[in-house]
Amino acid sequence: MADPGRMSDLGVGAQHAGEPPLAVIDVDGVVADVRHRLRFLRALPGDWEAFFAAADVDPPLVEGVELVRTLARDHEVIWLTGRPERSRAATERWLRAQGLPVGELRMRPDADRRPGRIFKRSELRRLGSRRRVAVVVDDDPAVVELLRADGWPVLRADWLAYEPTLGNAQNEEGRT
Ligand SMILES: [Mg+2]
Repeated sequence: MADPGRMSDLGVGAQHAGEPPLAVIDVDGVVADVRHRLRFLRALPGDWEAFFAAADVDPPLVEGVELVRTLARDHEVIWLTGRPERSRAATERWLRAQGLPVGELRMRPDADRRPGRIFKRSELRRLGSRRRVAVVVDDDPAVVELLRADGWPVLRADWLAYEPTLGNAQNEEGRT
């Protein structure tokens, strides 16, 4: 788990009195409706730049947005997404435009080719070493299964039918 680039995250350990527990939330398929851009991944080969570039016009998913607003009352919201770092500015802008708390946004490093579920498990272990994680929300069945097996309290976002195109891309190609 130790990653020299993230040493500031390690060694804290202590639970700080009065700090709210964490709610760790995925973006795509939970608060962002990705359906309009999945067509970029159905092409062979998939057009990843176009896929990410189109994210700034994702419609919000009302169920997810309401859930996050409710959780934010007594949790600290941490976003955990398979989107690459290069999408950070657009993602933060989009979250703000929906009236969502931006706070901490954890994104996959641009050169990271690990499957999405492995990246997320690694980030969760890091987060959980210093704060209590009260809930994790993700829409990807493969992510949900792995994180539950790792002991995390995961709520499966099921308000958008999961699109196998994206699941295959995230978990096998490790591109998002
Ligand atoms: Mg997702």
